[in-house]
Amino acid sequence: MEGLLGNERLKQSLSAAFAADRLSHSWLITGPVGSGKHTLARILAAAMQCTEGKRRPCGTCLACRKVFDGVHPDVITVDDPEKKTVTVEQIRRARTDLYIRPNEGRRKIYVIPRANDMNASAQNALLKVMEEPPEYGAFLLLSDSPEKLLPTIRSRCVCLQMSPLEEKEALPALSRAFPGKDRAALHGAWQRSGGWYGQALDLLKAGQGLAPQTLRFADCFTRRDRLGLTELLVPMERWKRDQLIPVLQQWIELLSEALRLRSGLPAGSDAALELSRRRTGGELVTAVQRLKRAVELLQSNVGVGAVCGALQIWLDIGG
Ligand SMILES: [Zn+2]
Repeated sequence: MEGLLGNERLKQSLSAAFAADRLSHSWLITGPVGSGKHTLARILAAAMQCTEGKRRPCGTCLACRKVFDGVHPDVITVDDPEKKTVTVEQIRRARTDLYIRPNEGRRKIYVIPRANDMNASAQNALLKVMEEPPEYGAFLLLSDSPEKLLPTIRSRCVCLQMSPLEEKEALPALSRAFPGKDRAALHGAWQRSGGWYGQALDLLKAGQGLAPQTLRFADCFTRRDRLGLTELLVPMERWKRDQLIPVLQQWIELLSEALRLRSGLPAGSDAALELSRRRTGGELVTAVQRLKRAVELLQSNVGVGAVCGALQIWLDIGG
């Protein structure tokens, strides 16, 4: 249970169920992206397969280790990432397979990570098996929009709802994952993620690997600092074409990220967030278009100096 951050109430009730070996056949884990649904599914699967009597999942027996390594033959994922939906054929295949006894486990567990992507016929097929599974059969359904599931499926499942992390739960883990980041950055990521740990990690990752010129550009463009932009671009006039293009592409990506943030999508670095707050959508679009034009010019062999000179004027947008 150590692998799952926060969610204390959930863990307590599960620990009691594990200890008593009172484990349902069907579980529904709900929560948004990055809330720990997959982590919890692994813990549950391990608890069901664990061969230790006392504290399930022990994390050390062979069964537990296979589950946590994702190689247990009796923990089967029902999903084809290539397909948009989970089809009735996939569910039927799982149903046929279910009646073959487990290879080595105590249970045979079917994990359906995109349960809300099952269409009506797939859900009905699943419902039939859930009504009368073999003694060893188990289903773990994961969903970020459980309202798309049939009420009859939901009522068959023990429902486990993930909770957002409190700051004191999230920050120590974030700081272990990003030892170089200061407390303000970690706090900002936690806050903007709404407490969903996976989203906070993505936000922190998004801010990494940017060239210093990109961070400087973001800062100047955010503050409408025309002189700062000139001071940034003048030394770049002596750069090589191959050096300049990827940096300009980072600027385009950053501005595009800010545009996505303005339309309400949560992911984004600190720099993109500031841009999205201080610049209008129109200004961001204009800047993207002009930077794309600059990249095109560079690719068609216009001189680096001329392009950097033009950008000093082009990026002076909206006074
Ligand atoms: Zn174990």
